Amino acid sequence: MPDAPRPYDPACIFCRIGRGEAPASIVYRDADVIAFMDIRPVNPGHVLVVPIAHAGSLADLAEHDGQPMFSAAQRLAGAVRRSGARCDGVNLYLADGVAAGQEVFHVHLHVLPRFAGDGIRLAAFGRQQSPSHHAASWMGLRTQSAGRLAPRRI
Ligand code: AMP
Ligand code: ZN
Repeated sequence: MPDAPRPYDPACIFCRIGRGEAPASIVYRDADVIAFMDIRPVNPGHVLVVPIAHAGSLADLAEHDGQPMFSAAQRLAGAVRRSGARCDGVNLYLADGVAAGQEVFHVHLHVLPRFAGDGIRLAAFGRQQSPSHHAASWMGLRTQSAGRLAPRRI
């Protein structure tokens, strides 16, 4: 039986880049993933790793599309370090949802080269808590994750 068509949204800029219908500085491509330079780089060498299949959010992303994205990001982190870009460290960053800062609603993973003094930081840091303080969120997460993750969409 032929494979189901890959999800595609003609209004989505990352889908269009994946099909070669919109320009991008592509640095990597395989059967599942494309990676290209961020148009507004936070640091030189800032790359986006994008599943070719359209998924607006992590909840919509099939695991078989998410896994290649993370694998490619791992390899691209090494490539950025070797590329000559100033890169003493790497952040992988993924914004899922408006509240998390997502602007393009096609899942993507930022590979962000870092160096000391580059001025990038998460604006807020948590305060240390004793286990009794995070009991509520801990119980909810345990219930949802221990054998009760959302079914795989394969
Ligand atoms: P976010 O959704 O917050 O993770 O960020 C979306 C990222 O996509 C931003 O860093 C943008 O600079 C980047 N971006 C948006 N449009 C393009 C494009 N056409 N080519 C490359 N990067 C883009
Ligand atoms: Zn898309």
